[in-house]
Amino acid sequence: MTTTSAGTAIPKELGDKTNLIAGEWGEARSGSRFEVRSPATGALLAEVPSCAAADVDAAVAAAKAAWPAFKGLHVYERSAIVLRMAELIRQRAETIACVLSAEEGKPFATEALPEVLEVALNFQLAAEDVVRMETPVIAMRDPNKRLLSFREPFGVMAVITPWNFPTVIPSEYIGPGLAAGNTMVMKPASTTPLSMILVARCIEEALEESDLPKGIFNLITGRGSVIGDRLVSHPDVDIVGFTGETVTGESICARAGIKQTLMELGGNGPQIVCPDADLEAAAAAAALGCFLNAGQVCCATERILVERSIHDRFLELLLEETRKWRLGEPFDPATTMGPLNNEPTAVKTEEHLADATAKGAEILTGGARESGRPTGLYFPPTVIDGVRRDMLLNLEETFGPVAPVIQYTTDDEAVEIANETGYGLQMSVFTSSIKRCFWFADRLRTGNVVFNDSTDYWEAHEPFGGGGGTKSGHGRLGGRFTLDDVTHLKTLAIDFAKAL
Ligand code: NAP
Repeated sequence: MTTTSAGTAIPKELGDKTNLIAGEWGEARSGSRFEVRSPATGALLAEVPSCAAADVDAAVAAAKAAWPAFKGLHVYERSAIVLRMAELIRQRAETIACVLSAEEGKPFATEALPEVLEVALNFQLAAEDVVRMETPVIAMRDPNKRLLSFREPFGVMAVITPWNFPTVIPSEYIGPGLAAGNTMVMKPASTTPLSMILVARCIEEALEESDLPKGIFNLITGRGSVIGDRLVSHPDVDIVGFTGETVTGESICARAGIKQTLMELGGNGPQIVCPDADLEAAAAAAALGCFLNAGQVCCATERILVERSIHDRFLELLLEETRKWRLGEPFDPATTMGPLNNEPTAVKTEEHLADATAKGAEILTGGARESGRPTGLYFPPTVIDGVRRDMLLNLEETFGPVAPVIQYTTDDEAVEIANETGYGLQMSVFTSSIKRCFWFADRLRTGNVVFNDSTDYWEAHEPFGGGGGTKSGHGRLGGRFTLDDVTHLKTLAIDFAKAL
């Protein structure tokens, strides 16, 4: 390891050359680089290549050239390679998590390490599930004919991912994408590319152990605003997997044209607390949903909808739970919540709070960045009461450590508020009634509903993604469901009468 002046350890495994194109680790063609700094200390962690269109073209060409051989590999061989990737990632999990914590700001032990272990799990699940994929065999009107179907990879897959889960989100595309036989060009977020570069070293190493052409997996770093357009509209890219803001996703879809797309976009998850709920459990879940990764989670609890008669008791419990969260430096074992990752997120959080207080809401704890910290990104857990439907905290995704409490009167009104923002990723309902559970499940317009747990609850193999007709995107990330989205169905009609 080398140690920066601010004491953050960066492992030598990161290397000096971090662009991976056609099996070679190198620089951007222009030689330019950009800095990656720790949100916790402000220290310079590393400089990485600042790619341009020519680098995108080279990476796509490498992926295109490697595709026929990789697609032609027997599925059990691809599965074994992807399983080997999982093994290497698991072996290096601590090192990767250390870098992840340093660049993203999330606590090392409670969030960064579990994230990297989930990365390994995602590769493992993809390797296991791909060999069990089933496709329809359908009878035909002509008795001499049979109809079989197969799942085929699309070809070259572009993957663009955000900074809040710098390794697990890429793995949700890369594991199934490679297992199914696509080749790949991936671009991590610019504030958090380093941990993914370490994951890429594991991926490349597993590929090198097999006698395969170079260029199956390529990683380039660079500003989305500079290389995003070229990558998603490139004529040789066949499928785009994107996780990020809804507005970016919309613009990518416009440029990607008829390519296959998986879009995992913003959320504005409400947690609905019914009068018959276990209030202690609901308060603990709400705090987790609001403060995990400092609220920078797509399925974070962005709004807490509380039935009027239980509001006062719930608020007391929520404040009690909030006091248990410790804002601090990500490597301090006492820390349960780290700093925000970047300045725009801090500014957006402030703007949403200012809008709410100007319209009459009341901040009960937190509410402003803490001074005396190494950076200006330390934002404490914040509880704000009296939030109304016309406030930005209700209408838009905040993505900060804020627990906005909104009161409702009837179940119908709760559904109306939950659905009115157009986002529909993951919602949660606390109730002790099974009848109510299904009543809400039928009416909430969202991809995922959790009953009696946090909006932040997920498991790696579940189908996760935006509900139909919402601003949260389309396609499913998680286990075997992604395998369907990264492949297309090819049918084969056979006439036995004319065969030997
Ligand atoms: P973002 O600004 O949309 O950026 C995401 C990625 O897109 C980054 O790699 C970014 O590159 C790149 N990008 C930026 N402009 C681009 C362009 N014009 N063309 C192509 N790519 C471009 O999102 P973010 O702020 O990183 O992430 C937070 C958002 O992600 C939130 O809205 C959150 O809800 C959402 N999210 C959704 C899920 C889900 O599963 N639905 C999961 C996690 C996060 P640079 O970093 O270089 O700008």
